[in-house]
Amino acid sequence: MIIQLPEEVKQLQKDWFDTSVPKEVQHRLRFACQVFGKKGKRMVWDTVSGGGGTICSHGLEENVYQQIRALQRKELFPKSYDENSKRALENFLSQKGITLEFGGYEETPKLSRKIFSLTKKIYELLPEHHLGHDHLKILKLCGWGGGAAKCSEYDDPVVHMFDFAVKGPIRNYVGLLLHETGHSFDEWVKQYSPELRNELKGLWGELSTSNKGFAIDYLLGEKSRHDYYMSFSSEFLAEFYLIYVSQGERFRGFMKNSSQGSTWEKVYGAYKILFDDKEYN
Ligand SMILES: [Zn+2]
Repeated sequence: MIIQLPEEVKQLQKDWFDTSVPKEVQHRLRFACQVFGKKGKRMVWDTVSGGGGTICSHGLEENVYQQIRALQRKELFPKSYDENSKRALENFLSQKGITLEFGGYEETPKLSRKIFSLTKKIYELLPEHHLGHDHLKILKLCGWGGGAAKCSEYDDPVVHMFDFAVKGPIRNYVGLLLHETGHSFDEWVKQYSPELRNELKGLWGELSTSNKGFAIDYLLGEKSRHDYYMSFSSEFLAEFYLIYVSQGERFRGFMKNSSQGSTWEKVYGAYKILFDDKEYN
């Protein structure tokens, strides 16, 4: 059964920027900088490590400011709160056994309605039993975590999308939401079948020896994602969850031509069973 992906997820199968976008502008988009100021005096807040605590401000040239603004209009969640879309997500999640919570200073931050509707669309793609199990009980939006993570985190049984993820590009939000949900899935697999979890860890061991793997262009780009997720088996299994859901045709094409295709097929096949035979386009 092949499920059609919403456009916001499907676009993760393509490169993020075309080559005409200067690296400086790309980097600032990827890492959710904020630009502001009056004409003649433009400023940027760079989030050096992706976290709110490490910000430095600089002056910015008018043309760079304009390029960043133009891309942000396309890439960020539009500012349009409405109570109904928040409630729709809340109801959907609570039917699955997940509570929607908010971090940060405001009790109910006025987030874009698109964050709520997109989160619902993404979770609707997943098999029922991936939601609301012992290791996924809370989805938390906004605020910051106390640990080393700066963009989002999984703290069993909580998937936490920090300010970085809800204020930054939609593309990062999609990637991070499915990655963190992948960590909850990994915890579930450990409980459901420790043998299968061990087998998957062994397959990661084989794949991690190659530096020609598969990766998605989000956050700091493919190479950075690849190096990161190949470093730990738990990161591998979380990122592969994102790959499984978002990369459908692109991943299956890669698998056919990869010299490690048969190992990738074993990982893909195990996920396919755990996804109740659902595959994505
Ligand atoms: Zn992770």
